[in-house]
Amino acid sequence: MSLRVRLPVPVSVLLGLASLACRHSAAEGRAGSPPQPHIVLILADDIGYGDLGSYGATRVRTPHLDRLATEGLRFTDAHSPSSMCSPTRYALLTGNYAWRGPLKRGVLSGVAPLCIPPGRPTLASVLRQAGYRTACVGKWHLGLGEGETDYNREIRPGPLDLGFDYFYGVPATGDRVPCVYVENRKVVGRDAKDPIQVSYREPVGAEPTGKDRPDLLTMKPSAGHNQTIVEGISRIGFMAGGQAARWKDADMADTLAQRAVRFIARNRRRPFFLHFASHDIHVPRVPHARFRNTSGCGIRGDVIQQLDASVGTLLGALDRWKLTDNTLVLFSSDNGGVLDDGYQDGAVADLNGHLCNGSLRGFKGGLYEGGHRVPLLARWPGRIRPGVTDHLACLVDLPATLAAAAGREFPADAGLDSLNLLPTLLGQATRSPRDTLVMHAGNGSLGVRRGHWKLIPPGQGPTARREPQLFHLGEDLAEKDDRAGRDPARVQELTVLLAQIRARGGE
Ligand code: CA
Repeated sequence: MSLRVRLPVPVSVLLGLASLACRHSAAEGRAGSPPQPHIVLILADDIGYGDLGSYGATRVRTPHLDRLATEGLRFTDAHSPSSMCSPTRYALLTGNYAWRGPLKRGVLSGVAPLCIPPGRPTLASVLRQAGYRTACVGKWHLGLGEGETDYNREIRPGPLDLGFDYFYGVPATGDRVPCVYVENRKVVGRDAKDPIQVSYREPVGAEPTGKDRPDLLTMKPSAGHNQTIVEGISRIGFMAGGQAARWKDADMADTLAQRAVRFIARNRRRPFFLHFASHDIHVPRVPHARFRNTSGCGIRGDVIQQLDASVGTLLGALDRWKLTDNTLVLFSSDNGGVLDDGYQDGAVADLNGHLCNGSLRGFKGGLYEGGHRVPLLARWPGRIRPGVTDHLACLVDLPATLAAAAGREFPADAGLDSLNLLPTLLGQATRSPRDTLVMHAGNGSLGVRRGHWKLIPPGQGPTARREPQLFHLGEDLAEKDDRAGRDPARVQELTVLLAQIRARGGE
């Protein structure tokens, strides 16, 4: 399949104009030091361990992500720091597990205040200090403003107060109101004559809800998701006003990719850090018409292919501007795969044999591997040798790792849980610097791992079993053989380990 992708007109024009003035990326380093790479961190939403061709998917086609895997390093033992959205994103930016701080369980609403204190060192702020132009394009889901977010005013604090020079994206999730984009500190298309009202407590305005008017829905909920209807889909939360500002679900992937490409175009002559937080493949899954019914695996497969096309758009922009050779591109997911996530969208019925988490047990939200073992790809031509690694990695390691790639150190007193994986990326390490991992479920439960041994303590995990569960992932990746009863000493050892890691610090 061609690596070139069809682009919407505005981006095509942009690409064409820019290519006329194309130069090699000149991310000059300090005297005597290697040049700083551009960094593109692509974080997909809810992509599971089995969703990509490079991780075993055979029906869904992901040629651009497969290219990334072929040209880069593919991790087989990488993990999201949580099995839910907000806490993973918190850890990815701060270098701390989210359960040490305010996000002990669940995810944030669309009116939650910013959950990271402005001024705290983040992945973005450290790279900015290292001379990078920094952007987050896509899903935010870390809260905005103070108190309950007022979308009619300048939104402060937000991403720009955490080290990003530019932000364009979705405040929370596609299935949560408000269904508007925010650019820097303002709602895009905001109209003072049609103020935006948002509540997660009580109805606002007079717009119909999925609960009262299911006849108006184009996609019916399977659980929750029955409040204000926007574009034929009922969401979590109530919303009124802001009619001109509301997004079109089917255009979201293109809108975000266009903004990301525009950022690259404008900043390509200096080191840039682009955090592209795709909304795909989170619910509601609404592919653009050109992807609908293309995967043979239902709507969930269609949005995977849409995600792949967005990745292709970014890789194509790097190629066109000859930035590829000096760009570190990473791809991962904020948690493991899930099928029915609140809407009757055919994700289960139309699977056609696709295994979203491969052979792993469990799904998004849980402590089994399917909840948090995720794809991780890293490409940096000439620096990262293409191949596969079984080194243990966690996305909480990205602040230390990417700071190191930029020739800096993440502040030691900031990223408590962040380990520098650059030696693994560069093939300079025989073993991962990470030997332990704490798993975090949506209900706040914790599990722990050292080496191949994994403990889910009593009462932890969505099912909260009364007995501990112990697995040896090297011999039993599918977690079918619970060895807790046979190895109480190991259970005790891992119980102590979890207590020790928790005792390292709270926020
Ligand atoms: Ca997610």
